[in-house]
Amino acid sequence: MDALGDVVGEHYNDNEAALHFDPLLSEARNPAWFAEGLIEIAWNAAFTFRPSATTAYANGRCKRCGGGLGERTTTPLEVDSVHDRTDGAFSASGFEPPPTSEMPGGLMIVSQPFLEALSDIERKTFEARPVKLKRTRRHQFFELVPFEFVPLGAVKGLDIDGGRCDVCGRHAFGNGSMLGWGVEVACRQDLPKESPNFFFAGNDKDVHLFCSQRRWKEMAGKKWARKLAGEPLVVVDQSEFEADPLLGTLDEIEAFREKHGYAVPFKPSPQT
Ligand SMILES: [Zn+2]
Repeated sequence: MDALGDVVGEHYNDNEAALHFDPLLSEARNPAWFAEGLIEIAWNAAFTFRPSATTAYANGRCKRCGGGLGERTTTPLEVDSVHDRTDGAFSASGFEPPPTSEMPGGLMIVSQPFLEALSDIERKTFEARPVKLKRTRRHQFFELVPFEFVPLGAVKGLDIDGGRCDVCGRHAFGNGSMLGWGVEVACRQDLPKESPNFFFAGNDKDVHLFCSQRRWKEMAGKKWARKLAGEPLVVVDQSEFEADPLLGTLDEIEAFREKHGYAVPFKPSPQT
């Protein structure tokens, strides 16, 4: 916890950088999990790309869960909304059938000033693809399309939240209720040796970007990093890493909720 201790409680200027540190205070966490001192480059801002929601992925969208099918295409995103006064934003995806306000993937866009503030080595980890914006804004925005992803998972033995689509098989899971919502988990052996201080994780439908605590603090409060947010990354050894947990399907979870409501926690069972 010491690695992150000096970030906790710091206040930045009105550029609104915010590092969330609730998980460090949670009973469930083990300080050793945060020892790598890696922080997610997140944003307190969202965007949507409704005009290109069905063309962003090679095979469109799943009718059951709304997720993108196939790989991210080379088509530029047509962005129809972004929060004002931000240098980055994420798109929220979920498990709702279209039409839905959720997007087929959790993607990231950043402003030209943010992009230009990155180093050459950092920029080598992704393609910066210009997005189409409906209305005129001060800055051009770019989608960060990663070249490689570190897999994300969960801590073995901790309660897992998540589910799997009955139709396309897409799943989402984590230890949100134990570690804090938004806290991701990676395996130490998967961390990239090439650029350990700036790398992407997740997959092409769930894009996350991480950097060292030192790098994050350099960005925080800068006028080219407005609405920057951060979450500490949990890093565990392979023996503690859960890459493919047993999950209920959306149908199973829905049927369970109809019967038991939300007061009873859903537990997937192996025979289903
Ligand atoms: Zn699906």
